[in-house]
Amino acid sequence: MDDLTKSIGGVIMAKIKGTVTFQEDICKGCGLCVSVCPTKIIFLNTDKINAKGYHPATVEEMDKCIGCANCATMCPDVVITVEREKI
Ligand code: SF4
Ligand code: SF4
Repeated sequence: MDDLTKSIGGVIMAKIKGTVTFQEDICKGCGLCVSVCPTKIIFLNTDKINAKGYHPATVEEMDKCIGCANCATMCPDVVITVEREKI
């Protein structure tokens, strides 16, 4: 069993992998999603300016996403979609 697979009460729980997508052009760069990601993989991309004139949020190490959806729940502008997959 690797460290991402959990055993709770003897029941082996499946690992969840998440994939997040951002509608970058409607992001207002508020950073709320950055602050709630438990794996700290979201950042504001200072190399890019979107249609609204902000640095949009993005993810760099998608393989670390656990699909918790904190980011999507927190985003006030519904920029983020989270897909969850059992692995
Ligand atoms: S789903 Fe969770 S782990 Fe993945 S980017 Fe959003 S807050 Fe981070
Ligand atoms: S919470 Fe939404 S609007 Fe704010 S930076 Fe994240 S994706 Fe952009």
